[in-house]
Amino acid sequence: MKTTDILEQERPVQIKNKSTKFVYSFRDGDGKNKQLLGGKGANLCEMTQIGLNVPAGFVITTNACLRYLETPDRMLPKGLMDEVRKQIKDIEKTTGKTFGDPENPLLVSVRSGSAMSMPGMMDTILNLGLNKKTLLGLIKQTNNERFGYDAYRRFIQLFGKVALGVSDEKFDKLFEEVKKKAGVKVDIGLSAVDLKGISERFLNVVHETLGKAFPEDVYDQLEIAIKAVFNSWTGKRAIDYRREFKITPAMANGTAVNVVTMVFGNMGNDCATGVGFTRDPGTGENVMFGEYLTNAQGEDVVAGIRTPKPVSELTNEMPDLYRQLETLRDKLESHYKEVQDFEYTIEKGVLYCLQTRNGKMNTTAMVRTSVEMTKEGLINKEQSLLRIKPELLEQLLHPRLDSLHKVSPLAQGLPASPGAASGHVVFDADRAELLGRAGEKVILVREETKPEDIHGFFASQGVLTSRGGKTSHAAVVARGMGKPCVAGAEGIQVDTKLRQAKVGDKILHEGDYITIDGGTGFVYQGIIPTVEPTFSDELKVLLNWADELATLKVMANADTPSAAKKALDYGAMGIGLCRTERMFNDVDRLPVVVEMILAATKEERESALMRLKEMQRKDFSEILLVMAPRPVTIRLLDPPIHEFLPTEEVLRDELLHLYHLKDTVSGVANLFGSLRLLNADVNIANLSPAPFNMMGVELVGQAIQKKEQMLKKVRELHEVNPMLGHRGVRLGITFPEIYKMQIQAILEATADCQKAAIDVRPEIMVPQVCTAEELMEVKVFVDEIRANIEREHGIKLHFKFGTMIEVVRACLQAEALAGVAEFFSFGTNDLTQATFSFSREDAENKFLPFYISKGVLKDNPFEVLDRKAMGKLMKLAVDDGRTTRPELKVGICGEHGGHPESIMFCHQLGLNYVSCSGPRVPVARLAAAQAKLGESKYVSN
Ligand code: PEP
Ligand code: MG
Repeated sequence: MKTTDILEQERPVQIKNKSTKFVYSFRDGDGKNKQLLGGKGANLCEMTQIGLNVPAGFVITTNACLRYLETPDRMLPKGLMDEVRKQIKDIEKTTGKTFGDPENPLLVSVRSGSAMSMPGMMDTILNLGLNKKTLLGLIKQTNNERFGYDAYRRFIQLFGKVALGVSDEKFDKLFEEVKKKAGVKVDIGLSAVDLKGISERFLNVVHETLGKAFPEDVYDQLEIAIKAVFNSWTGKRAIDYRREFKITPAMANGTAVNVVTMVFGNMGNDCATGVGFTRDPGTGENVMFGEYLTNAQGEDVVAGIRTPKPVSELTNEMPDLYRQLETLRDKLESHYKEVQDFEYTIEKGVLYCLQTRNGKMNTTAMVRTSVEMTKEGLINKEQSLLRIKPELLEQLLHPRLDSLHKVSPLAQGLPASPGAASGHVVFDADRAELLGRAGEKVILVREETKPEDIHGFFASQGVLTSRGGKTSHAAVVARGMGKPCVAGAEGIQVDTKLRQAKVGDKILHEGDYITIDGGTGFVYQGIIPTVEPTFSDELKVLLNWADELATLKVMANADTPSAAKKALDYGAMGIGLCRTERMFNDVDRLPVVVEMILAATKEERESALMRLKEMQRKDFSEILLVMAPRPVTIRLLDPPIHEFLPTEEVLRDELLHLYHLKDTVSGVANLFGSLRLLNADVNIANLSPAPFNMMGVELVGQAIQKKEQMLKKVRELHEVNPMLGHRGVRLGITFPEIYKMQIQAILEATADCQKAAIDVRPEIMVPQVCTAEELMEVKVFVDEIRANIEREHGIKLHFKFGTMIEVVRACLQAEALAGVAEFFSFGTNDLTQATFSFSREDAENKFLPFYISKGVLKDNPFEVLDRKAMGKLMKLAVDDGRTTRPELKVGICGEHGGHPESIMFCHQLGLNYVSCSGPRVPVARLAAAQAKLGESKYVSN
């Protein structure tokens, strides 16, 4: 949306509708026309017209409001008050009461209501129609003097403030004085005499402030009130609210005014007021839910002065009315086909429905009601799938903080991977692993994480970083593992050396407890209780309906057999991305990988590769087995190999320590030698413990040699732009033994499974490809290894060979690539970087938040797929690829594969599948169904 749209709101907006009908009775207004009648007005019309007992009333249109605001001296449109008078006469007929009548007065409320809900932002006046004479009528009618004066003083204050502009404080000050004098703390302690006195003093306040008396004529009151409500549309509160919530004139233009007969729940013990839900909003159970108070006004239920009773008690207190409420509940649901949150009043044994709207529920309740309402025939499966926002499902699949906790957060970062976890703070991955293995719960706290921290992730309950965005390494890896992560909590200064972190003036030491909430980004000191996730039967039913409908398949990104098992539980239909480098980083593998990188001879390298192959073969077998007969897409090594070695800085530091150590060790060893020579104390001289002997000196020497070798390699491998450097297929072609080893491991695992008659579907995927020739090079390895294994085992291997599409050139070369590849998988993390020429981490840490707040970019393109440009590239790739190979399977495995709006786009592009982290699989399943339902054939229904 343009910023100018928002700014427009300060000026009244030109109206197009020239109709001169400004007032509609609730019996006649179009209940669907919220633009003209406002949300509340339209609703009151609809409720009246479906036969609910709504207090009689009428709506003055938003059109009238705009006309009024347009006139320089703010005049009501001509004829408006005549229409209003006609409507009042109509109400008088319905209610048997008369407006301004001293015997049997009609009182009304005058309420604002625009097309968009703006709670509390505009004004409402109650009990209008009271004056010195009608007040006596009200008292006679109700036989309740206290009630009459209470209503009167409330009206004078509200009207005085809203319609006449007298400051609230003047009334409040007086009111407090009277309470103090009467020795009462709460309003209900005041007697009729007190309230009468207050009313009189309030009238004086108005007279003194305005220099004229409070209006006695009820039609004058009504006209002033209507103008006041119209004016409140351009009040500061309302303008600020619209700007904050980006409510444009296209969404809501002006406020309507609702004039509604007052009904009272506080006229005696046959009166009550309450709020209800047609189903339990906490659990979704199909029972009426709510609270009420006898002899009370609506605001008393909310104000918390008296404790309301559960609605079930009404069965004893007013059984007939409880039955009527049940009927009302059925009528509401069968008409609105949605759980309703409604307000009602019982006045002298008559039930009135004052308001209804769609009930707000938690996600558990949304899921349960969706399934139950479908089974009851109230809605169909399509409606049931459409009423839940897919992203909400993620809440159900992670532990979350107990909502009753009252702890204030210590810091806030970005909600990077949902779920909540508590544990001891640790500042490095080794420590996390040590404590984790000992059974401790830990939270890994780092400035940012690197691939070599992976073992720390495995051992931790969650990860907290002080730098990086939602697609930083920490975020992506944690999401992949389904662990909570708060990223970029900039208020935290991590000092790894001192093993502490500073947050403002607080210091967190290693071992202190913290709790992180990856759903909100909050970090708390101490342990906050969490609530465990539930994958309920209803959720399973709902997601099965989604799968039946969707055409997009939903795969998971999973790198280990245990992650694959979890993904299956989430309903993954296969694995769309298995990043093999994550296996390389595991603690028992990293030394072998390092050995392979540092190997001085061919033999040494081959020995390391052989050991790695056996480990990978075992991993692949397990994953293929877990997922059989579903597809498993295994990506050959992608990152540059220097990522498996420590950084130059770390190595230099370590070497410095080792040099010192060597000096110390040989110094102490020499000392012992000298002592022996001097024949000093024989006992001491003979002690000479390790490492302070020649053996120790040699060991340190070996360590130094190894580290120096590493440092040399790290320097050799150094690249200026590693992400654009020697990685992916480029690495695979120049160091063919790595890819060959991986291909061998995948195909041997496949052969093992096939021989055991297990239907496995491996897919070999090559990363970073930009030319068909690159892909051909790897295909040659594959063909050669396939032929050998087939010959050796006497079987025919079944698998697919394909490519990632994550560089711009690959999109433009799709026709040629599809000649070699049987499938494409969009790596939209890299493709976004390539399309924007943004480095992901730098963008998210530096300028992206600013770009978004300024509206330079609408969304973070690493979260929301950029349809405009990257989408164009993707479309080109899909269309061109399928020109060569019509049956080409195409999917997406970047972060966007779990984002509902982006999934919708993938559906529109004709992709076959999306792949996302395990816990996002349910979200994606629902989003895929909704994408299908977004097709015109469903929309037009
Ligand atoms: C991608 O680029 O979208 C992708 C899945 O690869 P990675 O995130 O591992 O670079
Ligand atoms: Mg990539």
